Amino acid sequence: MTGIRLHAPAPGWAIDADVVVVGSGVAGLTAALRCTAAGLRTVVVTKARLDDGSTRWAQGGIAAALGEGDTPEQHMEDTLVAGAGLCDEEAVRVLVTEGPDAVRRLIATGARFDTDAAGTIELTREGGHHRRRIAHAGGDATGAEISRALVDAVRERAVRTIENALVLDLLTDAHGRTAGVTLHVMGEGQHDGVGAVHAPAVVLATGGMGQVFSATTNPAVSTGDGVALALRAGAEVSDLEFVQFHPTVLFLGPEAEGQQPLVSEAVRGEGAHLVDADGVRFMVGQHELAELAPRDIVAKGIMRRMREQGADHMYLDARHFGAEMWESRFPTILAACRTHGFDPVTEPIPVAPAAHYASGGVRTDLRGRTTVPGLYACGEVACTGVHGANRLASNSLLEGLVFAERIADDIATTLAAPETAVPETAAPETAVPETAAPDMTDPATAGPHPHGPASAGPGPTTAPGGPEPRTATPVPHPAPRVLPLLDPAARPRVQRVMTHGAGVLRSADSLAKAAEQLDAIHGDALGGAGGSGHKTAEPGVESWETTNVLCVARVLVAAARHREETRGCHWREDRPDRDDAAWRRHLVVRLRPDRSLDVRTTATHDFPPTDRPLSHSAAGTRDPARDPARDPARDPARDPAHHPAAQAAARREQQA
Ligand SMILES: Cc1cc2nc3c(=O)[nH]c(=O)nc-3n(C[C@H](O)[C@H](O)[C@H](O)COP(=O)(O)OP(=O)(O)OC[C@H]3O[C@@H](n4cnc5c(N)ncnc54)[C@H](O)[C@@H]3O)c2cc1C
Repeated sequence: MTGIRLHAPAPGWAIDADVVVVGSGVAGLTAALRCTAAGLRTVVVTKARLDDGSTRWAQGGIAAALGEGDTPEQHMEDTLVAGAGLCDEEAVRVLVTEGPDAVRRLIATGARFDTDAAGTIELTREGGHHRRRIAHAGGDATGAEISRALVDAVRERAVRTIENALVLDLLTDAHGRTAGVTLHVMGEGQHDGVGAVHAPAVVLATGGMGQVFSATTNPAVSTGDGVALALRAGAEVSDLEFVQFHPTVLFLGPEAEGQQPLVSEAVRGEGAHLVDADGVRFMVGQHELAELAPRDIVAKGIMRRMREQGADHMYLDARHFGAEMWESRFPTILAACRTHGFDPVTEPIPVAPAAHYASGGVRTDLRGRTTVPGLYACGEVACTGVHGANRLASNSLLEGLVFAERIADDIATTLAAPETAVPETAAPETAVPETAAPDMTDPATAGPHPHGPASAGPGPTTAPGGPEPRTATPVPHPAPRVLPLLDPAARPRVQRVMTHGAGVLRSADSLAKAAEQLDAIHGDALGGAGGSGHKTAEPGVESWETTNVLCVARVLVAAARHREETRGCHWREDRPDRDDAAWRRHLVVRLRPDRSLDVRTTATHDFPPTDRPLSHSAAGTRDPARDPARDPARDPARDPAHHPAAQAAARREQQA
């Protein structure tokens, strides 16, 4: 616990639940549905609409060994190779073995994947996969279909949801255990609708952090809030330096900022070629899979060619698909290109790498537990060890599904155990005002409120059967260390610094400069060295997000400076080689109460690192995920490192 909190008004209202899920992408909604099915009072809090987030933008599909002749072992081998020596084999094994059934359950929930005339799921190939194993929907609209199915299911099953609500910080009880979250419900022009959801289990499913960079495929909500919140709560984060830059993002000009259209790997999977301005296929000869090499290799290939030719983009040529195939197989990408004035049917389209996926995040065990008791993380915000130094294409939707289910099962088991039941009156560390407030999330009970009516603007939605309003219990309140807020005007500066200093190409110099510039932005925004606090921004969505963006940026740069090698998607120009002897290990970062960073290097590449126990259950019982006797997944006899696939992957890595 750091005691550090974002500067925000004290909560003016509160509700109770068994579990609060933060975020409504594939990870959050899957966790919420499974928690609800287990009879847990579940509340989903999400920053924008239910379907906002990266999930709905996913194009290529979801990877799982569903095809004839494919096996989890082959999927595992490809995943381990992409992860460049830093995957946790146990986590990967969980992913690939539980993945196919998780996809089938998703289909049972209502998701409709593309099938052939016989009703068999059609599978495509993407970079790093040696087989066709990517299930897709609506051609290239897989994420939209998954999101639709999950949102429909959440509505049908009357899961309680609070939309347009930004979660600020974790609440903890006097023992440092999770006790809920504070959140700000956004009304029209309101900036003071702060409340609390009290719950002994919190699932962070806040997605990625692409908005830390100026060019990204991620939507506006991906500001790294979950990682920043977890750091403030004292949780450990890991592998943050491994940001995947998608090689083929539609190039909209050197000054373009924010979310930019992705041209899915599946386009290359179907035979599109990467060419330079002279029409030369420069990936051929660089890797056995050419354009379908793992993403980091392709991104580096593009960047190298761009540097050689002094160009700011390359081209993707898929004219040979013809109009019919473009229209049926990639309608979303075709439309995005045409919107921006390019026609892939008649011309090669300009592409360049942009920030796409955070392979690292909040460190968890195989049950999604973080180092803070009761706090879970899943989906892109989490670091389960599945991705290692680089995510294999289309493994992220699958990770969200598989680990969300595991988390829900763990919460259900933990809360059912009598010794871990949390009494209704469990007092969170942050006090709620003594006057019992109406439940602002429920239009039926929400009366006039000093912090503004919940019904104003796009306020929260309420489904029947959710938790009842809570009568607030006053508790002793240790003075929190309030984090001053950054002016939102600082955000584009942070993003530019990150793209130039900590982007696809990094070096000791570029990272040192980035760190210095981020410190300067921090200093400027806080009104001089040390930050007097007098010039800090007012609490509000933009300043909270900007503060989170800077926090994540600083941690990312610190980790990237620390890792003095090139591995996976971390490419250090000054350290061009992979150095297994020194660096086949993880970087774990924690925020100290004085706001300084504790950057620790683990002794081995094991994940979670074995030199320290991970979180314990609310009752302080031993974490079964660390105890092979209680966890068959950690039975040495089933140790995937002994598996032929893992051994083959290790051999290939050594040869590489
Ligand atoms: C363009 C694009 C294409 C992709 N294609 C693929 C693909 O083909 N296959 C694949 O496997 N992966 C793909 N990915 C990656 C994949 O989509 C994501 O990793 C995955 O969807 C993440 O799911 P999630 O549930 O963790 O987060 P998200 O879907 O991003 O959801 C995060 C949720 O958290 C909410 N949130 C964030 N902060 C807060 C806060 N402070 N308070 C409350 N709520 C908050 C957001 O509003 C959102 O609801 C793609 C990503 C992008 C951007």
